[in-house]
Amino acid sequence: MASGKKNQNKKTGNGANLGFEEKRWQVANLIWKIFSDPISSIAPNMKHRRKKEAFKKRVLTWADKLEVKVRSLYVRPMKNKWASCSTKGNLNFNYELLSFDAEVADYVICHELLHFSVPNHGKLWKSLMRVHLGEYEHLEVVLSQRSNRRAE
Ligand SMILES: [Zn+2]
Repeated sequence: MASGKKNQNKKTGNGANLGFEEKRWQVANLIWKIFSDPISSIAPNMKHRRKKEAFKKRVLTWADKLEVKVRSLYVRPMKNKWASCSTKGNLNFNYELLSFDAEVADYVICHELLHFSVPNHGKLWKSLMRVHLGEYEHLEVVLSQRSNRRAE
């Protein structure tokens, strides 16, 4: 084997993974943007359905990233919560989240998925949130301003 190629492989070790990860998020964000666009020509009910699919894909992308196994996943009307999860891997998200920016949706998704391994909002949960979302507190404010529902 040519040493040049070997070096290249070595170089792309972590880089390739990072590239894939980045690309995956770029695609997820693009899909989100397309279906959030108010002036796109897609019919409203079709748009809603596509948006829901985009949201679910986003959840599964996060689940992959956080190495969480999702058993069931629903996006539906919820009265008092933004989302809920069970330790068995069942997830419910409020369909009103479809009208938020991707970063707010990410907050709720990451919030719930981390509960699979950390069932409270203690120090560990907070530091994991920070690892994956960076500064996330302002997103909690955005959500609480929209209504008094909670992500549980
Ligand atoms: Zn919670």
